[in-house]
Amino acid sequence: MRFEEAQRIKNLPPYLFARIEKVIAEKKEAGIDVISLGIGDPDIPTPQHIITELQKQALVPENHQYPSSVGMLSYRQAVADFYNRRFQVQLDPKSEVVALIGSKEGIAHISWCYLNPGDLVLVPDPGYPVYSGGAILAGAEPYYMPLTAARGFLPDFSAIPEDAARKAKMMFLNYPNNPTGAVADEKFYREAIAFAQKYEILICHDNAYSEVSFDGYSPLSFMQIPGAKEVGIEFSSVSKAYNMTGWRIGWAVGNAEVIEALGRFKSNIDSGQFQAVQYAAMAGLSGPQDAVTANNEIYRERRDIVVDGLNAMGWNLEKPKATFYIWAPVPKGFTSASFAEFVIDKAGVVITPGNGYGEQGEGYFRISITMPKERIVEALERMKKNIGQVEF
Ligand SMILES: *Cc1c(COP(=O)(O)O)cnc(C)c1O
Repeated sequence: MRFEEAQRIKNLPPYLFARIEKVIAEKKEAGIDVISLGIGDPDIPTPQHIITELQKQALVPENHQYPSSVGMLSYRQAVADFYNRRFQVQLDPKSEVVALIGSKEGIAHISWCYLNPGDLVLVPDPGYPVYSGGAILAGAEPYYMPLTAARGFLPDFSAIPEDAARKAKMMFLNYPNNPTGAVADEKFYREAIAFAQKYEILICHDNAYSEVSFDGYSPLSFMQIPGAKEVGIEFSSVSKAYNMTGWRIGWAVGNAEVIEALGRFKSNIDSGQFQAVQYAAMAGLSGPQDAVTANNEIYRERRDIVVDGLNAMGWNLEKPKATFYIWAPVPKGFTSASFAEFVIDKAGVVITPGNGYGEQGEGYFRISITMPKERIVEALERMKKNIGQVEF
């Protein structure tokens, strides 16, 4: 018997990391100590007070039953309070906040709420693959907005053809940005809002890295910008801020109609997140923030080791102000894939080929600093010793 896959699954792009994963597996089998700077997933544990709250709440029988699919009101209130404290943004927890099973879940599902088959969605390239993946599964068509170094990895709205702008129903934006580490200022968000108003486009801003920043830089929320609530929503979660990627709890905030639609969609798909996990996320959002400060100091030190190390080999990189990624061009004569393979072969270090994030990522690679300092130091030493000086 053969099961014919649905067209929406067949439409998903091919998985580009298969080749590099095979090389990694071969190296490991050969007994080589591979250092992976590929995956962006915090290595530092979740702060103790958050774990303690989960332990306490796991013992409460009421928490063992089905939660509400849009989240407990107290959880949504904690998200609203966080936005008020952190960004001076007022949100109505009842109508402008919905809990998500990680922001990835909402990012994938929002396309199902607003895109019909054949609709266009504006997607950053390079970008987090879930934007296009969710849209393709909903039958829609991504229109890729190139993010180039020349423009600080911000899309150029004036370069979007008139007919594409008219056909577009939604746009994804993500600053601080994965994979480029770029940040956006208020002027950029104002341009995005004006564009969205002109063409009646729903903006979905992904702020997963709002709490991961350095050198005194404090990322904005899209919701701080006048008009944001009329045209859009913002996704985020406790994943990157409090080292809780495995806990699967996040939120969408903003435009009440859109939040309601997403909640209605979810009520047909899932039954929300375990209440004990919601309480734990509340402990993170409402509790002491010193773990965030400590994390950022750890990432800053690692970032400096990577950027200074690569620059000593011939790169000319600036230090990103936010995220735990370093986005860098490959040396002369390499593609993203051939350089990633070269680095694992010569140095036993895994980097992510940039083309995995979109066509515009070709010619780049991403290093994630979610590894202990000693391993990052060793990775850079091995690269220096076995690769040496590079040219562009
Ligand atoms: C990590 C990440 C997310 C998803 O995080 P969740 O754990 O699902 O909340 C969303 N967007 C970007 C750009 C990310 O890097």
